[in-house]
Amino acid sequence: MTKYIFVTGGVVSSLGKGISAASIGKLLQARGLSLTMLKCDPYINVDPGTMNPFQHGEVFVTEDGAETDLDLGHYERFLSRDMSQANNFTAGKVYETVLSRERQGDFLGTTVQVIPHITDEIKNRFRAVAKGADIVIVEIGGTVGDIESLPFLEAARQMGLECGKDNVLYVHVTLIPFIKASEELKTKPTQHSVGKLREIGINPDIIVCRTEKTLSPEIKAKLSLFCNVPKESVIEAHDVPSIYEVPLVFQKQGLDDQIIMLLRLRTRSKDMEGWTAMVKRLYGAERGVTIALAGKYTDYKDAYKSVNESLLHAGIANDARIDIRFLDTSDPDVESKLSDVGGILVPGGFGDRGVEGKIHVAQLAREARIPYLGLCLGMQVAVIEFARGVLKLAGANSTEFDPRTRYPVIDLMPDQKGVSAKGATMRLGTYSCALKKGSLAHKAYGTASVSERHRHRFEFNNKFRKLFEDSGLQVTGTHAAKNLVEIVELRDHPFFVAVQFHPEFKSRPEAPHPLFRDFIAAALARRSLPAHAR
Ligand code: GLN
Repeated sequence: MTKYIFVTGGVVSSLGKGISAASIGKLLQARGLSLTMLKCDPYINVDPGTMNPFQHGEVFVTEDGAETDLDLGHYERFLSRDMSQANNFTAGKVYETVLSRERQGDFLGTTVQVIPHITDEIKNRFRAVAKGADIVIVEIGGTVGDIESLPFLEAARQMGLECGKDNVLYVHVTLIPFIKASEELKTKPTQHSVGKLREIGINPDIIVCRTEKTLSPEIKAKLSLFCNVPKESVIEAHDVPSIYEVPLVFQKQGLDDQIIMLLRLRTRSKDMEGWTAMVKRLYGAERGVTIALAGKYTDYKDAYKSVNESLLHAGIANDARIDIRFLDTSDPDVESKLSDVGGILVPGGFGDRGVEGKIHVAQLAREARIPYLGLCLGMQVAVIEFARGVLKLAGANSTEFDPRTRYPVIDLMPDQKGVSAKGATMRLGTYSCALKKGSLAHKAYGTASVSERHRHRFEFNNKFRKLFEDSGLQVTGTHAAKNLVEIVELRDHPFFVAVQFHPEFKSRPEAPHPLFRDFIAAALARRSLPAHAR
């Protein structure tokens, strides 16, 4: 029988519940258990696809084209496993299903209610991913005490009743704040949060305590007593330099042993050697390189979560520390901010705010021979820049930013024309891409064909393809079935690769993405050149 671990959060949001859940997953996977993860988001949007990244961070795209919460990115990176549509759902999606069934007449004669109809649908979704898994780890978004997450917690409680004590475990991730004035760690917020959980009928089995300071045995004893969990089940999650160390912090305290005992699981001995070596390599890097990231959300790092992580992974592969410098492209002095960088990355984005600045940055990268990696919008601005700067097509643009441009070098494909609904209507998910022999992309991947994930509406306009290729912007990756340009590269440049897809969704700490890896290698090579030779 599949067993369930429910991960809830207390006291404040942004505690790293997703990292905790993924770390538990990693440890259990390393014990030979097959598992999957599930993230429930209590908001009413059907998916996060239409939300501003300022609200919930980046939208993570799965192989099957679901637009999901960024925690799925953590799951994939920690477990080295693909998630899918079924691994993330929102309150909105649950209501959508229940309401359409109500309209079909599935509940004729009854009053449709939160309990049991909404909670039943939530439980259906808990069960839908269980097939073939020893364990399902369910992370419930929001903070205990929120009105919105109540139906999810209620469904989690019912699962305990239905599946039995040995088959369901509740992990509560909470904050132990440090009060500077009195130099004390405080347990009261956690006591209250656990109290709130108990009101709902859930007794946590394990408490994971986020803290800046080490928890003394007295504090642990107090937490154990007031929260009604054994001392060994009070796990300290102190701040560490990298999220990838968290599974090791948990392992040291025997968190995996606790879970295995409580759920009466039979497992292999641990195998965390590869992961430990990866973290060691990450911490041991002796050289460093600065990468300029020219995005819109410079003050909110979660908006580019997967990009940041991919750069870090590429750093591991190159034994280098990566310093990400968020560039404000509207800064008139942007050029001076690039004097000491090893490379420039322009990530994905929507809307015309800041686009001209990005086009300018692509120009600087081309002219100053600075390694450039363009992702989605980052490819489109590179194409626009080349059209204006090299092909001399004045006013060339994407029709997203200038619908009346004379030179629509980036344009909508016929199947996107006239699409007005915004939810889940972009080109989404995995598409194959054939690589041109001898190109930088081909060398990086080391194979003739790859598949990568997409999330965009606009495409390279094939009408201009020959013009571009004749002048030095080569097309090195294509999706043949639809005749779509997926990768462009500048000839006569150390590293200028721009892709229509999002490689950042496929990079993992244990398997860094080849394009990011080679981009960082090029950035390091540039940094090791004397200034006059760059
Ligand atoms: N706005 C562009 C498009 O829709 C790029 C999207 C992106 O960068 N994800 O095509």
